Amino acid sequence: MEQDILNLINGQLQAAHGGQWLDNVEPATGQNYSRIARSGADDVEEAVAAARRAFPEWRAWSPADRRAVLMRLADKVAEHADMLAEAEARDNGKPVSVARTVDIPRAEHNLRFYASAAEQFSSESHTMGDGTVNYTLRKPLGVVACISPWNLPLYLFTWKIAPALASGNCVVAKPSEVTPMTAYLLGTWAKEVGFPDGVLNILQGLGPEVGQAMVEHHYVRAVSFTGGTATGAAISALAAPKFKKLSLELGGKNATVVFDDCDFDEAVSTAVRAAFSNQGQICLCGSRILIQEALYDRFRDAMVAKVSKMRIGDPMDPSTRMGAVVSRGHRDKVLAAIDTARGEGGRILCGGGRHQPGEPRLKGGFFVQPTLIEGLDHTCVTNREEIFGPVATLQPFKDEQEALGLVNATKYGLSASVWTKDLKRAHRFAAGIDTGMVWLNCWLVRDLRTPFGGTRHSGVGREGGYNSMRFFTEPQNVCIKL
Ligand code: NDP
Repeated sequence: MEQDILNLINGQLQAAHGGQWLDNVEPATGQNYSRIARSGADDVEEAVAAARRAFPEWRAWSPADRRAVLMRLADKVAEHADMLAEAEARDNGKPVSVARTVDIPRAEHNLRFYASAAEQFSSESHTMGDGTVNYTLRKPLGVVACISPWNLPLYLFTWKIAPALASGNCVVAKPSEVTPMTAYLLGTWAKEVGFPDGVLNILQGLGPEVGQAMVEHHYVRAVSFTGGTATGAAISALAAPKFKKLSLELGGKNATVVFDDCDFDEAVSTAVRAAFSNQGQICLCGSRILIQEALYDRFRDAMVAKVSKMRIGDPMDPSTRMGAVVSRGHRDKVLAAIDTARGEGGRILCGGGRHQPGEPRLKGGFFVQPTLIEGLDHTCVTNREEIFGPVATLQPFKDEQEALGLVNATKYGLSASVWTKDLKRAHRFAAGIDTGMVWLNCWLVRDLRTPFGGTRHSGVGREGGYNSMRFFTEPQNVCIKL
């Protein structure tokens, strides 16, 4: 059944003012299956006005009351987990098993985590010894914009709106136009769980249209954005002259570094998982696998054996572990990157092209074979630019010093995963890496209290725990002489 994906503005589900729609395509089939409200500046105007009206009441709610309403929204996610997982798999192309075990549970957890943060957030005081006391108020900003990408749709959407709401802001949020469904479904419960009208507004449509109008709007005080580096730069250029607060979580070209004293089996299976989870479409994916020379051949062969066995299937089949990439355009971009690697002299060890499934339903789908490439050095485009698909390269290194040079040889600085049993080396090496996050002998283990984000072209600012609560509030020092 075709479904209309509507905006949520001032508590009402509605079409865009301009009456325009966009097609919503199922990546596994290449077919349209719903239509998306194509919003513009008029819709942003209405949503921001509603958020401004709602702000005085919402900021005055007690932290306990804000906690309760966020918890009720989390309850809705839990109650509808299967339906949301199926919607996410259909909209994004990811296996429903992944949506069920990763995306939707994490979306629920984000809401509960920041619901608790509403009550636990605190601020500092500084005494001066002469009876003078400074205390810091943490005031919500007012209306804030949250813009999220398509790779982990509900997971990253809730990661932004939950702390924004918990800290007392009113939100105008936009999911990616490529994967709008689960954010829309979440919005359908906003009123029922008790959000006052206008506190949470969700706008659908294209980034350069509605997204840009959100960023530019005079009354939007902060923008929390996760997406590509080029988009992040465009948003910065618009927001900086207006002195808006900005949190930018951008792209990555992360290294998995394997020393010859690693736990071999665990390093192989995690390197494969780090490269190919979610079809390689996670900002934290390890797409450059650096292997110490003595171990190189054995490690490469073990990886190739594992990756060659990976089966691509229908995302809606519960046994599928690898699904479709998110769109036709993205598939073509990934295939072009593989061609570039070939042109640069890379040897394709496995994969290297489109996957054509046998099932008639999937004939028009966007499937790419998991691909490993060797023979390229750190200066080539393939090892410098983010591909954001199921493609990883292997490079050998001699020693710690060379490995560190390779890890830091891109403009990005998001994360790295390092494999060694020598703990002294592990700590030393981690400290030398210029990324926001390092995993030692593991990958993507997440404690939501820790600072999440990147350096250089991977972004500005940190999210997670109190970092997000601080981002969404303005500190005000009050000094009193007693
Ligand atoms: P995009 O940058 O294309 O889009 C991200 C969001 O921004 C979408 O909602 C998009 O809307 C919107 N947008 C696009 N243009 C504008 C604009 N001019 N003004 C305002 N908003 C705009 O990224 P993708 O969705 O393609 O996501 C993939 C990227 O996200 C990768 O580079 C990946 O590394 C990065 N990412 C980073 C993470 C991190 O935490 N560091 C986590 C996950 C992904 P629409 O799609 O509707 O055009």
